[in-house]
Amino acid sequence: MSLLSVDLLDSFFKKEKETALFGRWIRLADITPVILKHEKNTSVKQIGFSEQQRPIYSIQLGTGKKKILIWSQMHGNESTGTKVIFDLLNTLTQSEAPCIQQILTTCTLQIIPMLNPDGAEVYTRVNSKKVDLNRDAVERSAIESRILRNALDTFQPDFSFNLHDQRTIFGVEGTTKPATISFLAPSEDVDRALTAGRIQTMNIIVAMNNLLQQVIPNGVGRYTDEFYPTATGDNFQKLGYNTVLIEAGHYPNDYEREMTRKYHFFALLQGIYHIAMNDDYTSYKRYFDIPNNVKNFYDVVHRYPNQTKNCVAYQYEEKIIKNKLVFDLQKVMEKQIENPLSHNEIVFDS
Ligand SMILES: [Zn+2]
Repeated sequence: MSLLSVDLLDSFFKKEKETALFGRWIRLADITPVILKHEKNTSVKQIGFSEQQRPIYSIQLGTGKKKILIWSQMHGNESTGTKVIFDLLNTLTQSEAPCIQQILTTCTLQIIPMLNPDGAEVYTRVNSKKVDLNRDAVERSAIESRILRNALDTFQPDFSFNLHDQRTIFGVEGTTKPATISFLAPSEDVDRALTAGRIQTMNIIVAMNNLLQQVIPNGVGRYTDEFYPTATGDNFQKLGYNTVLIEAGHYPNDYEREMTRKYHFFALLQGIYHIAMNDDYTSYKRYFDIPNNVKNFYDVVHRYPNQTKNCVAYQYEEKIIKNKLVFDLQKVMEKQIENPLSHNEIVFDS
């Protein structure tokens, strides 16, 4: 296991964070100038157009034998991974640190920073034809699904990273912490068999989790490995392409996901470095030490001591109103319940 130092990761993030990108609503117009900036140090290509004719880009760098494919924002309203990709690109192209040079000489990275630009434009999970791209891996009814599959077939990566965001409702089982980062090594079949490929995917996750436990102890969850027959990761894994799912989640008081962005960046760079430095990816058992991701959090809870009156819980609904992203509080539960977990709690006197 080759772990990067937290101090080094901190210094990379401070220096190379892409300041042009901030917050939750990231659209094609936000990333286009940043992509063009990278044209001088990387190979930038348009690999197709979305249903509404927005360009989809890939960015390639590195000269090594190990091939790594990374894509983000296949769900248009899940942008943390996109921010992380550009923090990573700045680091890979600017830093002369030995670990970065090691990555660039051992690996070739192909990065698709926004697979669903139409969904990103209007802040929806689905594409403009209401297709959930992460449930379209078999049928491939959407142009965007075919573009991703074509990238997979032509690049033939050794490892892939599929970057998503999860809602604030997710916590880490057995703790009182939100799931700031969650992982999954997807199953290839309904029996959730531990295939050689899946074990390799787990091995990368173990390395990322070991790093994260130093900075967000108990803040990492593991997704259910129930087989989803139409999901992207499950199908890519089944085709023999090891695919790590990363879900960016909530960090206390961080609804813009800028702290989560930092830890996501730490995890992704650690995962890539681990791939670069190792040739044996067979150790996996500590993957199952990562606690389950559970739905156990509310955004806001109003409650009374000793359950004297009903406890009322609220969840933010994210909406675009007058061209702004608004967090709109919706009541979702009212009952007698002891100490529900919430990101914001108000306890009334009686
Ligand atoms: Zn998603």
